[in-house]
Amino acid sequence: MSEEQSLSCDVLVVGGGGAGLAAAIEARTHGAKVMLIEKNPELGGTTAWSIGSFSATQTPHQLSDGIVDTPDEHFEDMPKFSGDQADRDNPKLRRIFVDNANETLRWLMSMGVEFFGPMPEPPHRKPRMHNVLPNSRAYIHHLGKYAAKIGVEIRCNSRANKFLLDGDRVVGARCEMPLGITEVHAKTVVLASGDYAANHKLKAQYISPEVALVDAMNPNATGDGHEMAFPLGAKVLNGDVLSGPTLRFIAPPRETIDRMLPPWPVVTKFMRFALKYLPDRILRPFVLGFTTTSMAPELALFTNGALLVNKNGQRITDEPSKLGLAIASEPDKIGYVILDSELAAKYSAWPDFIATAPGVSYAYLDDFRKTRPDIFHKAETVMTLAGAMDMPPEEFKKSVEAHNATSETKLSSGPFYALGPAKSYIVLTDGGLAVDEDHRLLGENDTAIPGVFAAASAGQGGLMLKGHGHHIGWAFTSGRRAGRHAAKESGINVD
Ligand SMILES: Cc1cc2nc3c(=O)[nH]c(=O)nc-3n(C[C@H](O)[C@H](O)[C@H](O)COP(=O)(O)OP(=O)(O)OC[C@H]3O[C@@H](n4cnc5c(N)ncnc54)[C@H](O)[C@@H]3O)c2cc1C
Repeated sequence: MSEEQSLSCDVLVVGGGGAGLAAAIEARTHGAKVMLIEKNPELGGTTAWSIGSFSATQTPHQLSDGIVDTPDEHFEDMPKFSGDQADRDNPKLRRIFVDNANETLRWLMSMGVEFFGPMPEPPHRKPRMHNVLPNSRAYIHHLGKYAAKIGVEIRCNSRANKFLLDGDRVVGARCEMPLGITEVHAKTVVLASGDYAANHKLKAQYISPEVALVDAMNPNATGDGHEMAFPLGAKVLNGDVLSGPTLRFIAPPRETIDRMLPPWPVVTKFMRFALKYLPDRILRPFVLGFTTTSMAPELALFTNGALLVNKNGQRITDEPSKLGLAIASEPDKIGYVILDSELAAKYSAWPDFIATAPGVSYAYLDDFRKTRPDIFHKAETVMTLAGAMDMPPEEFKKSVEAHNATSETKLSSGPFYALGPAKSYIVLTDGGLAVDEDHRLLGENDTAIPGVFAAASAGQGGLMLKGHGHHIGWAFTSGRRAGRHAAKESGINVD
């Protein structure tokens, strides 16, 4: 075998999103020789797609705002987000998360990551949501740079597909790398390969065949790590828990300014100052772009009388909470939200907003006209609106009539508006592999499999992370801890 087909390290990290970078940095900091492999051409994963909120207590931000809060209260509040699924939680992992989230946030700050907040998010009793500046790519920028600086060997375009075993011990992974199939031998492996929101087979198996039809926000979240772990006897906990299907307006044709802003200190410091001190009326035009770009139309729109039609003008009938699922079976999986002038007037002022970034801003109809002309359509009559959207006018008219026959709110007065295309997405799946409190992957009879750890979505271990900022918080917290334990098991003194 040539050198390129057989590589070695102490700790192999599979996945270059938030958790993988955190694991790699932690293991390397303790002296391990670390290789991180990422299947995509660039680091990032779902972490770089996210909004980037991070919920934690006793942070510098809470302290400077005079907020008295504790991990215990955070521990008590988290299940309030899970409703009737609250008893499916893993309280041991929840404890680990709340106790370590503050230190993790400070660790991220020590590498240059900036946050603003904390913002309130009931039922949290205290404001705990910290938002990363200028956007979630800052995590990847700062951690990627730091990892390279301290000597983590980062290899992109490299995909792990099978564990290497010595008896029942994991000793590396077989990887598809640019120069061919390569065996990467390692003393320990950390799986940080994300969730299975884009894996049709796993979604059908754990959730339902209907949900399996819905696309993932991140098409690369293919659950590779889960599938690699099954032959070892690993199991998925809470496989049916997910976020979505959620109706969202399609992304704008060009990247918005908020996504393009570089994570330079001068930018983030100015943003932090502006968000704290500038009045809303000055800030609003800037944060709105963000809200109208990434956010979902509120379901209340439909209970209040808006109509959803497919690209052929046909009514997509279902109760509002099921529209996300229904739209996935429509042509091109897209739909348009239809309003008349009365609904338009209603959705022009508080408290009737069309979309929100919680705690950041609320977007009304006119905001879409200004910031998203690509998805904003207006016409004086039903027939001309259909024409403007290339829909068969008669079909569209029939849909409006059918809607008016059953809905308390009639779409009757022009001008008429259409917002769309909107698509339905699975944001993430919460089914994680079972792990112990040291993030060791568990196999048959809940016995730890030697040599392998799992973090973040891959190693969610039944932890319920509903509410904002818990997934990211867990990704970095569990990633660091898994990296430290992996380094220790590979023979490094981490004390
Ligand atoms: C639109 C959106 C917004 C969100 N906003 C928030 C938020 O504001 N706050 C919050 O807490 N959470 C949020 N989340 C959830 C959060 O982003 C994720 O739960 C978290 O980032 C997962 O981190 P991870 O490291 O497990 O996975 P990822 O960041 O997805 O990293 C996994 C990496 O592994 C790579 N990989 C996979 N398989 C292989 C393989 N076989 N070989 C090599 N590499 C592989 C992937 O390409 C990927 O880069 C959001 C999610 C979405 C989709």
